[in-house]
Amino acid sequence: MGAALLLAACAEQKTTVDITDEAEFAIAIHGGAGTITRASLTAEQEAEYKEKLAEAVNAGHAILAAGGTSMDAVVEAVQIMEASPLFNSGIGAVYTFDGEHELDASIMDGATLEAGAVAGVRTVKSPIELARTVMEESVHVMLSGRGAEVFAAEQGLALVENSYFNTERRYQQLLDAKEKLGVADKQAWIELDDRYKYGTVGAVARDQHGNLAAATSTGGMTAKRYGRIGDSPIIGAGTWADNDSCAVSATGHGEYFIRYHVAADICSRMKYQQVDVVTAGDTVIHDVLLPAGGTGGVIIVDHQGNIHMPFNTEGMYRASRSGDGEAEVAIYKD
Ligand code: ASP
Repeated sequence: MGAALLLAACAEQKTTVDITDEAEFAIAIHGGAGTITRASLTAEQEAEYKEKLAEAVNAGHAILAAGGTSMDAVVEAVQIMEASPLFNSGIGAVYTFDGEHELDASIMDGATLEAGAVAGVRTVKSPIELARTVMEESVHVMLSGRGAEVFAAEQGLALVENSYFNTERRYQQLLDAKEKLGVADKQAWIELDDRYKYGTVGAVARDQHGNLAAATSTGGMTAKRYGRIGDSPIIGAGTWADNDSCAVSATGHGEYFIRYHVAADICSRMKYQQVDVVTAGDTVIHDVLLPAGGTGGVIIVDHQGNIHMPFNTEGMYRASRSGDGEAEVAIYKD
C-alpha cells in the first residue's frame, strides 16, 4: 500500500467510532477558575451563575440526547456563555491594557483530530464559531488578528464593534489592575489577584456515536499587553480531543498551561499509561501544574463518557450532565 493510501486508511479508521452498545453521552462545561469563595459572591450572583451554567449544559445535553454531534453540543454551550456578561468570553470579556478586547478561541474534533483556533480577534461576535469555521472551511489550524477577521467576513460570520464586548464590571477591573500593576512589571503580574485573570469558558462532550469534542473561548487576562496570547487558542494547551482517550478544556494561568501542554498531557497519560480519567486529570492539575506555580483547572470527558473536573484554585464555575441524568452545577471546592 502506498504511503498516501496507508494514511487515508488510518484516517478513515479514526473517523467515527460507533460504540452503540455503550453509547454513554455526556457533556461538561466550565466558566473559569480562580479565587471564587462563598464570601466573594452574593446569593443573587451565585444564583445567576448557576442558572446560566445550567442553561448552557442543558442546551448541549439536548443536542446529544437527540443524537446530535459532540461538535454541535460544545459550540452551543460555549456560545450561550459567550453571549452572557457573566463570563470572560464574548460579552464580558476582560479588557486589554489599552482598554479594548482581544479574543481567543479553539476547538478540536476527537474523531478526526482536526482543529481550529483564532487569537487576538476584536470584531468577531462569536470567536468559537470562527474557530470552528477555520477548522471546517480553511486549510489552516490557527489564524490571528486582522487576517482572522478578514476570513470571518469572507465566511459571512457576524461582525461587531469591539465595544459590543464592553461591560462596566470588567472595565472597573482594568482600572483596578492598572493601578496595581503600574508599569509592566513581572512581579506585579505574578502577584495580581487571579480575580483579574480568569473566567474563560469551555465545553467537552461525548456523543452517542462515541465521538469527542472540546471547545474553549476567552478574553484572556485583564490588562494583557503586547499581543499576549494565552493557552485557550493553543491546541494541546487549552483544548484537546482524541476519541482514543479524552477531551479537555482548560482555564487558568495560561502561560503555565502552555508550558505544561496541559490538555494534551492529560489525554496522553490516559492513552499511553492506561490510567483512568481521574488519575490523569488529578496528576496533571495537582502534582505537575500546582508545584510549578500554575493555577487553574480543566473539564474532561473520556472516551467512555466519564467526566472529571479537577482544579487547584478555590473554585471553578462548572456543570455537567450525562445520559439521562440530571444537570450538576457547582462553583466552590466543596
Ligand atoms: N487561560 C486563560 C488565559 O490565560 C485565562 C482563563 O482561563 O481565564 O488566557
